[in-house]
Amino acid sequence: MAKIQMTTPLVEMDGDEMTRVLWTMIKDELLYPFVDLKTEYYDLGLEKRNETDDQITVDSANATIKYGVAVKCATITPNAARVKEYNLKEMWKSPNGTIRAILDGTVFRAPILVKGIEPYVKTWKKPITIARHAYGDVYKASEMKIPAAGKVELVYTGADGESRELIHTFEGAGIVQGMHNKNDSIESFARSCFNYALDTKQDLWFATKDTISKKYDHTFKDIFQEIYDNEYKEKFEALGIEYFYTLIDDAVARVIRSEGGYIWACKNYDGDVMSDMVATAFGSLSMMTSVLVSPSGVYEYEAAHGTVQRHYYRHLKGEKTSTNPIATIFAWSGALRKRGEMDKLPELMEFADKLEKACIDTIESGKMTGDLACLSTLDNVETLNSEEFIKAIRANLEKLV
Ligand code: NAP
Ligand code: MG
Repeated sequence: MAKIQMTTPLVEMDGDEMTRVLWTMIKDELLYPFVDLKTEYYDLGLEKRNETDDQITVDSANATIKYGVAVKCATITPNAARVKEYNLKEMWKSPNGTIRAILDGTVFRAPILVKGIEPYVKTWKKPITIARHAYGDVYKASEMKIPAAGKVELVYTGADGESRELIHTFEGAGIVQGMHNKNDSIESFARSCFNYALDTKQDLWFATKDTISKKYDHTFKDIFQEIYDNEYKEKFEALGIEYFYTLIDDAVARVIRSEGGYIWACKNYDGDVMSDMVATAFGSLSMMTSVLVSPSGVYEYEAAHGTVQRHYYRHLKGEKTSTNPIATIFAWSGALRKRGEMDKLPELMEFADKLEKACIDTIESGKMTGDLACLSTLDNVETLNSEEFIKAIRANLEKLV
């Protein structure tokens, strides 16, 4: 059988620990035999980041801008323990943070649904994709403890002088917080969300507390509406999808009653909290995909979970682990499909569909990793280790190609 050809390389970002082990297995078993895989390889494993003073991460992000599509393995974000474990020159920043800052992107997270792993919310039939704004608000806030009576104000000093707003006149001890966001960041967020909705042909919901926060949250609402009206309305109407704004509390109620199948854009804090709620309610972190989309239409695909450190230490001791590769495989299929779409390679896009179908068929036939086995409602569940599971997917894939 002739291998499927590619014309432009994918930016391949390798990573750490157990996911790095899976990465090689996935390429060997599920990609190389079928696709003449072209990638520009960047090793974002912690050792290489340390060796290059993290330049490799910056280079990989710039390559993503150049080629348009990247696929990333999970990577370690160093903490004090990792600095010691890997003898690091310094506590390098999170690669995802570095890449996100360079691409100016928004992260979209969506669960993979399979029969036998039922969402806790019984009306949910389709995935709910959460888009979380990744800049500002409470994550870049200044805070103070107010020890005793006194006046607290917001002060803005511009070119033309000063303006003030009273926060509160304290009669005793209390607390205050000052937070900000930037119009250009909100605009990028909005464009990433509108582009992703067009791309995936799903409705876009956005919600804030604009009735209470008449300047702060209202600005988010206004920026989204203005960009929608000026740049996206016609495209949405042509595709038959909808942009829908509502209050955050109304959105929460509607999400629970919905059947899914839309993108839910959230401010930074709402997205942090709601993505954990949605992920858990759909079943498992190992079935969550993640894609970073820049406002200019550059895509970086990855799994939402980390490097699965605990499994890796067992792997190092020679034990077989039952680590779930599905979200990492879907990162590859997502990237290959997008590459196929950009380069007009229908065969590559079909391969991505078949790869995903092979994964789902395997799980729905009862063969799965341990994390899913303990959630599954199927009555013929067989728990496999990672290698056996990937080989079972390969067997199903061969039936499809
Ligand atoms: P994690 O890798 O997401 O794993 C946490 C636990 O979730 C695992 O111990 C495992 O539970 C379960 N799990 C996650 N993915 C799984 C999978 N594919 N198959 C089976 N079980 C899975 O988080 P962590 O262990 O807290 O973090 C490890 C490293 O990952 C850290 O250094 C962190 O910086 C990094 N990280 C990277 C990213 C990223 O690159 N996007 C994201 C998050 C964290 P059991 O042990 O109970 O089986
Ligand atoms: Mg969180």
